[in-house]
Amino acid sequence: MNTDPNSPFYLTAVNWHAEEPFLQFRVQGDESSQSMSAKELDLRFRVAADQDRQCIGTVDRSEDGSTSVQCDSPAVSARQCERCQTKDNIAAANMHQAHRRGRDAIGKAMGAYLTHPHRLYVAIFRDGSTKVGTTRGLSGGNRLVEQGAWYASYLTQVDDGFFVRELEDSITEKLGINQAVDTRKKFAGHLQPLPDQELENQLTQLANEVEKFLTKEIGAKGSLLNDRWSNPRIEDQTWTNLVSYPTVINQGAHEFTIKSMVGRLAACNRTGFAENFLVDLQPLLAQPLETGDFEIDEFIMQDSLF
Ligand SMILES: [Zn+2]
Repeated sequence: MNTDPNSPFYLTAVNWHAEEPFLQFRVQGDESSQSMSAKELDLRFRVAADQDRQCIGTVDRSEDGSTSVQCDSPAVSARQCERCQTKDNIAAANMHQAHRRGRDAIGKAMGAYLTHPHRLYVAIFRDGSTKVGTTRGLSGGNRLVEQGAWYASYLTQVDDGFFVRELEDSITEKLGINQAVDTRKKFAGHLQPLPDQELENQLTQLANEVEKFLTKEIGAKGSLLNDRWSNPRIEDQTWTNLVSYPTVINQGAHEFTIKSMVGRLAACNRTGFAENFLVDLQPLLAQPLETGDFEIDEFIMQDSLF
């Protein structure tokens, strides 16, 4: 993409559109970023040790949904400058506590974003971890593929994002269902997945339990749904036999082709290796990358020698 070592490029986001993954790159100094389909994407890069990490920017939420906002500052935290980090922290707190703080306390744009129909779902990941979550809009959406859920069930739709978060919180409190799943568990699940049938059965049980609870709680403020969802990658053979990527992605020089993605995790192939490797792309965000004619770090694959 960019061969000038004086202006590195950066991965600024992993985005999903119509349940397909895209990587957003930005060359330092360029006004706009470019979005590239992640499928069959060939990447050759090294992390430029002598360059600053660059802030990946933030997300603005309004009546029309979310839009990403670019930033030109160096990153001071893991991925952002101080200003963007503060902005995101406030937005996250507002969004999660909107129902407790009330509409007046959270700002007009966020209020308008939340005054829109929402759905509540329960999801299961390949290691068997489960969560309850919410998503804006009454159909489609990328929330589940973004997170890398394997199966999910939409259980109710309600008029706004305030009430849906009340429901979500009481499900966590009363039924002990978490609202987030650690990426390490998601990663481990792809290396040693539970059988799909078992995951489906577990999800059915969980959905029944939550539905019983919702029947008592939603009253006239929403309606029950029973929409099953499965990850479009469940039939993809790439995800049946994965090996953990054997080196650290945010250091050194790398070359691979992304075959498929689930959430921010990429299944990739490297020339000369029969295996597909699983790698978390998040540590690459904000890192200064350069491409060119350098040597690629070797993989030490102890098992494959025998
Ligand atoms: Zn920033």
